[in-house]
Amino acid sequence: MREIRAKTLLSRVPQPDQWFGLMYNMNLYRGCQHQCIYCDSRSECYRIDDFTDIQVKTNAIELLRRELASKRVKGTVGTGSMHDPYMPLEEKVGLTGRALAVLGEFRFPVHVLTKSDLVLRDLDALTRLARVHATVSFTVTSADDETAAKTEPGAPPPSSRFRAMRQLADAGVLTGVTMMPILPFIGDSVENVVDIVERASDAGASYVVPWFGMSLRDRQRAYYYEKLDGSFPGLRERYERRFGDQYYCSALNARELDRAFTDACAKRGIATSIPRYEPMRVEQSSLF
Ligand code: SF4
Repeated sequence: MREIRAKTLLSRVPQPDQWFGLMYNMNLYRGCQHQCIYCDSRSECYRIDDFTDIQVKTNAIELLRRELASKRVKGTVGTGSMHDPYMPLEEKVGLTGRALAVLGEFRFPVHVLTKSDLVLRDLDALTRLARVHATVSFTVTSADDETAAKTEPGAPPPSSRFRAMRQLADAGVLTGVTMMPILPFIGDSVENVVDIVERASDAGASYVVPWFGMSLRDRQRAYYYEKLDGSFPGLRERYERRFGDQYYCSALNARELDRAFTDACAKRGIATSIPRYEPMRVEQSSLF
């Protein structure tokens, strides 16, 4: 772990953000302890040479306060795109917890993307933020703990994520699943997709958002293939034959998965997109 000082904290997200409805992105750390074998943040364009050397932005809270005070437009602040905001060291460092408290003071809507039940530590802050708008999305790529232990070796198992989802839903915080990436030849079975939807529904999820495929490029691809060789012998060759140097690698049965997914969500009454922040609705409800 290394301490660094950042020049800025919030970056503007190109509009419209179809996936998450974000206006600002907040990265409190660089690097991630969850070590998912497919992580896109290893790509060369992000210039993080050692992804395991976690950099902590020690001035993040001071920057956040200053930047929120200067924002003319209130929009959803997302965290969790380049690191997991609840990776293990957050327990000790507490940057995410403090950032949520500041976002609450400024009444900014929030979207948290995580794979960890450590998010429950901040349940009180999230419940307060939910009066404006708060969503917590858990990424689940496989419903099976053993498979996830191979593909997401540093993250808590999916079963813990579903349990955390239940507690958030019970506390009135909107929560759901980002089912992405669905790894070709690993997570791309109808059983896996339907299982994720059903377990999410049982855990009180309001939505499940899918992507039936993955991205692969430069360093990310090299790392992924190295890990496939260790945990899924023979799969690298299938990837190479099927995808070559392609960036977008869709599951071969993406259409079939999409049909099964849509049916399962319809049966359970689950939305297939993340609920958006609606400023007018919040302003009106706070009038009464
Ligand atoms: S949790 Fe997210 S950021 Fe962290 S290693 Fe996994 S995919 Fe990458």
